[in-house]
Amino acid sequence: MARFDFDLFTIGAGSGGVAGSRRAGSYGAKVGIAESGRIGGTCVLRGCVPKKLLVYGAEFVDAFEDSAGFGWSLGERRFDWARLIAAKDKELDRLHGIYVNLLKSANVATFEGHAKLVDPHTVEVNGKRVTAAHIMIATGAYPEMLDIPGIEHAISSNEALDLKALPKRVLIVGGGYIAMEFAGIFGTLGAKVTVAIRAAQVLRHFDQDVRSALTEEMTARGIEVRAHTHVTRIEKTADGLVATLKDGTKIAADAILYATGRRPNTRGLGLAEVGVRLNEAEAIVVDEAQRTAVPHIYAIGDVTDRLNLTPVAIAEGRAIAETLFNKNPMMVDHHNVPTAVFSQPPVGTVGLAEHMAREKFGAIDVYRSRFRPMKGTLSGRQERTLMKLVVDRKTDRVLGCHMVGRDAPEITQGLGIALQCGATKRQFDRTIGIHPTAAEEFVTMRDKVPEPKAEAAN
Ligand SMILES: Cc1cc2nc3c(=O)[nH]c(=O)nc-3n(C[C@H](O)[C@H](O)[C@H](O)COP(=O)(O)OP(=O)(O)OC[C@H]3O[C@@H](n4cnc5c(N)ncnc54)[C@H](O)[C@@H]3O)c2cc1C
Repeated sequence: MARFDFDLFTIGAGSGGVAGSRRAGSYGAKVGIAESGRIGGTCVLRGCVPKKLLVYGAEFVDAFEDSAGFGWSLGERRFDWARLIAAKDKELDRLHGIYVNLLKSANVATFEGHAKLVDPHTVEVNGKRVTAAHIMIATGAYPEMLDIPGIEHAISSNEALDLKALPKRVLIVGGGYIAMEFAGIFGTLGAKVTVAIRAAQVLRHFDQDVRSALTEEMTARGIEVRAHTHVTRIEKTADGLVATLKDGTKIAADAILYATGRRPNTRGLGLAEVGVRLNEAEAIVVDEAQRTAVPHIYAIGDVTDRLNLTPVAIAEGRAIAETLFNKNPMMVDHHNVPTAVFSQPPVGTVGLAEHMAREKFGAIDVYRSRFRPMKGTLSGRQERTLMKLVVDRKTDRVLGCHMVGRDAPEITQGLGIALQCGATKRQFDRTIGIHPTAAEEFVTMRDKVPEPKAEAAN
């Protein structure tokens, strides 16, 4: 008789949990998975997918505006937010169904309810106890709301995706990628958007030129960025909501969205009791093979708070399945992971920002290009694209590629492969461009940016 009920039991059926469980099931392992919400998790139900569908909805505005320069005369335009939300919800239901079926077809047993560990090999879900040889924690993260008076009137990204009506005035608190994406959605669809950030500029940790270019272009689109500030209180009035900033300024809004960070879902799981170690941010500490302090308990994805991206969570889940059930030990390389911000305009980035490269490699060369793309000539759109390469002077290896402009996420995916292969600037130069595209600029940049006199601050 088997010593355990399952070879692998996964807690959390989001991107990483589902991917890892399915892969393990496909190798014949006996797998169970518990989910306290809906199968699919953050990315599918309240993250990447619904967000991107709303971004697509917003992008039509630019297309309508630009069309006049190309000879189009448009009739009346009317946007119906409720219709977009209903269409989005229908698509999410479809995807949820697909995820349920994917688990079924991989013979993964699903358990509905909040799961917790009762001992190192036993998980309890809704009063039912099961044992497993290996346990994979894939419980993700949740939006953190700051503790200020009136915070109950604010919403997180979860609610922002389900608003009944498009707010006319939106205050977004936070300057990370989620904040920028919602600023783009609401702003492009016609809301008056204000972004309040503690730092000098948006997108902390990104390349300085990316931060400046995005701020500039968003400002040109009418989004107001209030730097070096924070909200001290929120009040509900007859006219909606009023937020008071640090300096006493009041901002009236119909919706106040907090995008100030996400906290790993580690509470109530019984982790510390069985010996799983957490860090000060309450994230699970793992080694390069995703093992926690208890070697047969693994953790993947956002609950480990490292690179909080769907493809990373998926790769980590699959790596565990490969290692345990396919005699194919795998570890996920967290270097050169391409990533995007689906703002207006969008950002694509892979590798090191200039300041990181300088710190790590010392002597670097920087190539930068800022130009108005061809489409802007007839449309009259003034928006300028930024492209930037960071190169190690000693080896000529390209360390970072950064872009702000149309199609940046699509272009950056290909550059990610080049960086994974260790491509040099000479190899970029020898690559023939596709003409006429914006992307060809990445293989035609010749002039080095002069060395900066002093590091840019913040
Ligand atoms: C608004 C937004 C936009 C995003 N956009 C992008 C993007 O464009 N690209 C990108 O790569 N990433 C994006 N992300 C991040 C991405 O969604 C996450 O990195 C990804 O979902 C992490 O997957 P995961 O498996 O770690 O966790 P999740 O997908 O969060 O899944 C965790 C699951 O565990 C369940 N759970 C939690 N606790 C328990 C418990 N005790 N018992 C049972 N079940 C439990 C939860 O209900 C959830 O379903 C976005 C996130 C947000 C919020």
